[in-house]
Amino acid sequence: MSTSSEQLCQGLNCSKPAALQCPTCLKLGIPNSFFCSQSCFKENWGNHKAIHKIASLASGPPAEAGGSDPWPGYKYSGSLRPVYPLSPRRTVPDNIQKPDYADTGIPLSEQNIRSSSTIEALPKKDIDVLRKVCKIAREVIDIGVAAVKVGVTTDEIDRIIHEATIERGGYPSPLNYNGFKKSCCTSVNEVICHGVPDMRPLRDGDIVNLDVTVYKDGFHADLNETVPVGNVDADGLRLIKNARECLEKAIAMVKPGALYRDLGNVIEKHAKSEGFSVVKTYCGHGIHRLFHCAPNIPHYARNKAIGVMKVGHVFTIEPMINEGTWKDEMWPDSWTAVTQDGKRSAQFEQTMVVTETGVEVLTARS
Ligand SMILES: [Zn+2]
Ligand SMILES: [Zn+2]
Repeated sequence: MSTSSEQLCQGLNCSKPAALQCPTCLKLGIPNSFFCSQSCFKENWGNHKAIHKIASLASGPPAEAGGSDPWPGYKYSGSLRPVYPLSPRRTVPDNIQKPDYADTGIPLSEQNIRSSSTIEALPKKDIDVLRKVCKIAREVIDIGVAAVKVGVTTDEIDRIIHEATIERGGYPSPLNYNGFKKSCCTSVNEVICHGVPDMRPLRDGDIVNLDVTVYKDGFHADLNETVPVGNVDADGLRLIKNARECLEKAIAMVKPGALYRDLGNVIEKHAKSEGFSVVKTYCGHGIHRLFHCAPNIPHYARNKAIGVMKVGHVFTIEPMINEGTWKDEMWPDSWTAVTQDGKRSAQFEQTMVVTETGVEVLTARS
């Protein structure tokens, strides 16, 4: 049992100050389950445990917080369940500049150059603008990360990220990108990427990736981080650390003349050295006036990515590292990518530009 303060005992006919929290409630994210002593906890166990059952029923196929499983009968690969209904679509003030897909959901400018593998080298004046947008994206993700704790829904984190973005004059790029319903991606446990923020409260021991992209002054800036929620087991922390190191090792290779296809060799080597695997379906990408463009940057070894790094190339590296299989599948929402074996996945992402001497990580923590 872990400790806290200023709570009253939940035991029947007991209202003593209580500092011991029921470990099962803690795990399930049920707040305020405090007892004055081990003996009072034991005495009341018979009645108390019923609330665990209600909470786990509520967080399994039928959902918590009055929500419901949107896809009854769907065979989930792991234990995570979405909790619907989603909150209503968030609005963006008229004075904020919007990307072309903001109203229609269709990124026309991206589709026009979809087949192109030409990598644009940005002039210094563009990079100066992009640098400012990247700084804002960093501020926004830091605010999101600070809001991560047991009991907070991913929808609430989405609200915080949405508001932090528009307060800074930016548009949250994920919102309505190919119809995406929310302003950031929140990917919990076995979700690899593109998780849709919903009404599920984060639980003690979860890991959650926040992926933030901000559009401002004509440019997109993209980064993500995986954060432990409460007490995460040693394997989960090791996975997070390995994913962060995979990104660092890849960034260290970036310089003029390096080959995009070589980044995956370094990433996969480090992932494998600790028994982890690398997702193949989702890749890093070029980014500037478009959210996603050339180059395409796979994170796995022996890939055949096209391109040589040149000064002014702007792109993301964002390895997704798995505890078990590298194979992914998708939830019926056509967004949420999960591991096929239901084991956890962690990811880190930065936006960077190739410089004369190597690389500038534009979204780096200052
Ligand atoms: Zn990205
Ligand atoms: Zn991202």
